[in-house]
Amino acid sequence: MTSQREKLKPCPFCEGAPNDPQIEQTQADKWNAYIECTRCEVSVSGQFGESSPALALANIEALWNRRP
Ligand SMILES: [Zn+2]
Repeated sequence: MTSQREKLKPCPFCEGAPNDPQIEQTQADKWNAYIECTRCEVSVSGQFGESSPALALANIEALWNRRP
């Protein structure tokens, strides 16, 4: 499956580059996702009920990009 992935924005606090998102499957359709800034180590994480890791990835990327 191909999806339009949003590009991750730089960290809102230090303008550093974020890490590649970490995705961990916790249940059949549940994913923990995590993105951390490589410079100041601020992070966002979330748990998403999605049918594929790509969808969980899209969620965490949207979450990172939406932050003030
Ligand atoms: Zn940062």
